[in-house]
Amino acid sequence: MVDTIYIEEKIKHFDRTKKILSRFKNSRYIFIKKYSEIFNVKNQNFRIQKYNPSLILAFKHDNFVLKAPEGFGIGTSKNFYFSHMYNCIYDCRYCFLQGMYSSSNYVLFVNYENFVEKINEIIKINKDKDLTFFSGYDCDSLAMEKITGFANYILPKIEKENKSLFEFRTKSNQLEPFLKIKPRENIILAYSLLPDELSNILDVKTPSIIKRIEAMKKISKLGWKIGLRFDPLIFHKGWKKNYYKLIQHIFSEVDNKNVHSISFGSLRFPNQMFKRIKKLYPEEKLFSYNFDIRNNYVSFSKDIEEEMIDYCQSIIKKNNDKIPIFSCKPY
Ligand code: SF4
Repeated sequence: MVDTIYIEEKIKHFDRTKKILSRFKNSRYIFIKKYSEIFNVKNQNFRIQKYNPSLILAFKHDNFVLKAPEGFGIGTSKNFYFSHMYNCIYDCRYCFLQGMYSSSNYVLFVNYENFVEKINEIIKINKDKDLTFFSGYDCDSLAMEKITGFANYILPKIEKENKSLFEFRTKSNQLEPFLKIKPRENIILAYSLLPDELSNILDVKTPSIIKRIEAMKKISKLGWKIGLRFDPLIFHKGWKKNYYKLIQHIFSEVDNKNVHSISFGSLRFPNQMFKRIKKLYPEEKLFSYNFDIRNNYVSFSKDIEEEMIDYCQSIIKKNNDKIPIFSCKPY
């Protein structure tokens, strides 16, 4: 799966590093001083590198937990995110990471303990506030779990008395770390969802929507809280029929009382980022749409976004009008 692994000298003796490397017996190891020597090199081509990305094992020194962008949240007053990785094994055509990084190599930060320390520190400082911590903003939080073991490490450390919410957002059907412990009210396994017709084209290398719904069904029946994330909402021919079918399918399968929340997010890119992504995929039909530019964000028109959210909300409410619904809007 990975031909070359770069390893920072500082972490080569860590037990976790050795454990991860034991999964790649046939890969070539190259020792480096800092991950940025490889990852931040200018003039790399994200698209070409995506055919055969390398893995970079690194030590993170700071910025373990960051404030979530404006408009991102599921009802708490303060929102944070943490990413144990940069980049993703999947290759969704609309992924913002392809416009953010020039390299598609995977960076994995192996000092997981520091993420937990920082989260606990933030909880202590904000002891009277309700918080949400989102895992995996710069990656998919579970897609590489078999190799990283990050969720397996962090889940048991999230105290159940703690009133902060933790969301693990994914397009994978990886459930293993959740099957090992009892469900916790404050942990949400959230799934990004698109109608099949779009996902088959745009969610490159991800498990199918059917597989994701099967995973949601299984985990919600065990009592875990799940989140339905229609993010991004994508306008296309037949969107009403396709979103209707998707929502009905989900509600017929998952345990409704364990749906913690639903959120919508429009397809949106900062203008400069959109230009970079479009240059990488000039033939991609999605990017040839005549988008609006509002507050320096490229997106569908406000009317389209509102019509889509209203329509999807109305179907959801017909199924269940008790589940909290949120819209993530950066503008
Ligand atoms: S799953 Fe998320 S992080 Fe991974 S490629 Fe798709 S959009 Fe990007």
